[in-house]
Amino acid sequence: MKSLRVDGPVLLPGQDGFDEERTGFNLAVRHSPDVIVGATRAEDVAAAVEFAMGRGWPIAVQNTGHGFSTPIEGGLLISTRRMGGVRVDPRAGTARVEAGVRFEQVIREAAPYGLAPLNGSAPHVGVVSYTLGGGLPLLGRSHGWAADRVQAMDVVTADGRLRHITPDSDVDLYGALLGGRDNFGIVTGMEFDLVPVTRLYGGGLFFDSEDVPGLLEGYTEWTATVPRQMNSSVALIPFPDDPSVPEPMRGRYVYHVRIAFTGPPEEGERLVQPLRLIGLRLMETLSDLPYSQSSTIHDDPPIAMPWAADNAMLTSLDNKAIEALLGHVGPDAPLPTIVELRHLGGALAEPPAHINAVGHRDAAYMLAVLTPLAGAGVADAHRCLNRLFHDLGPWRAGRFLNFMGHGDNADRERVRTSYEPHDHGRLAALKAVYDPTNAFRANYNIPPAR
Ligand SMILES: Cc1cc2nc3c(=O)[nH]c(=O)nc-3n(C[C@H](O)[C@H](O)[C@H](O)COP(=O)(O)OP(=O)(O)OC[C@H]3O[C@@H](n4cnc5c(N)ncnc54)[C@H](O)[C@@H]3O)c2cc1C
Repeated sequence: MKSLRVDGPVLLPGQDGFDEERTGFNLAVRHSPDVIVGATRAEDVAAAVEFAMGRGWPIAVQNTGHGFSTPIEGGLLISTRRMGGVRVDPRAGTARVEAGVRFEQVIREAAPYGLAPLNGSAPHVGVVSYTLGGGLPLLGRSHGWAADRVQAMDVVTADGRLRHITPDSDVDLYGALLGGRDNFGIVTGMEFDLVPVTRLYGGGLFFDSEDVPGLLEGYTEWTATVPRQMNSSVALIPFPDDPSVPEPMRGRYVYHVRIAFTGPPEEGERLVQPLRLIGLRLMETLSDLPYSQSSTIHDDPPIAMPWAADNAMLTSLDNKAIEALLGHVGPDAPLPTIVELRHLGGALAEPPAHINAVGHRDAAYMLAVLTPLAGAGVADAHRCLNRLFHDLGPWRAGRFLNFMGHGDNADRERVRTSYEPHDHGRLAALKAVYDPTNAFRANYNIPPAR
């Protein structure tokens, strides 16, 4: 049996650094492995996988811990946070990242060349896992899924082999990783197209839910009228009555409409006008922004906390669906919840140039709900989330992998709903080829087909 030879640290339970290494952004849950390898390069990942496979151990991988799904009990955790290399090729319009890179690095490196990655709302999210889960960008309606822009990947499969794959060299594995994430291996590097975006008309409009009870109806009507350059979402946020919260929002249940328009600012201004007419605003932050400041649009706090989550891809959102949603959230909800409704369509509805497993492309909206676990247990939170999504049954097309949540919410039947049925069957068959013993199972798992 092989011994473990890696450049990065090897940490055992009880050792200094072990707890810090396994703690991620979602504080509700942590992996409990026998060994953590803090990989510094692809060869470390390959050696660690070979070591664990030789012992029949399960293998988990973690970068920032924003997307925790299933905790590992025993076995090996590969931590990729030290693999921080980014290279932008301005002539090709591409970026190449290692597995530990976060979006803020790519945004910073690409901006001087007038280029940008298709990042999501929060720049502190890891690039590789976000993209393997589909990657629903801030500019999704304008430019489509981040996964569709991937040109090449380096991946360590369960046999310990480090492979460089492209859609031409390895169509099956390429199409399984993009959507199937670490069911098929650990991606150590990724190369993808950037987009020529330097600025945006963007920011937020904030409404008090009491003053503007019909905001969601008005917002969904408005989304039916806008071109694909208009990217938007609305969040429903219960702000605590706390001095740390800006005065206009303090103690209120707020509707926060977010705008990221890729056309000329004066056109954005004109398109947003009907939203202003829906009702009185508490605050507005719309302006012409450099893309490097696009994270201010959602303003997701970069502060780790415990939470539970679930989501649905919705075929439509009519007034009955809004009524069903508001019956579960709002100022009187049994547990505080943060709701986010993203407008889809546009380029997100188009098929990829090369087959991948990112599904539900015909959905009109993505509804994600997050329950902070400050006072509540995860079981209570999941019960509330289950009731809400049950009542939205008639409008649900399935789930989006990147916002699935953890624990019971990561079970295999729920995972199945995040794929088109034919994709799930294809992935299960490929899982039997690439990881027949299901060593990569501490994830949104796709069991190998028999
Ligand atoms: C505040 C916030 C905002 C977000 N905004 C968006 C958004 O706008 N759009 C969107 O699509 N998603 C968004 N997400 C979801 C995010 O994309 C996923 O949670 C993603 O998995 C996070 O990746 P990570 O590396 O940061 O997290 P991690 O928890 O480190 O990774 C998540 C999982 O990905 C797998 N994984 C990690 N590294 C690798 C690897 N190298 N190879 C193979 N598999 C790997 C593992 O299963 C791991 O458990 C957001 C999440 C948060 C918390």
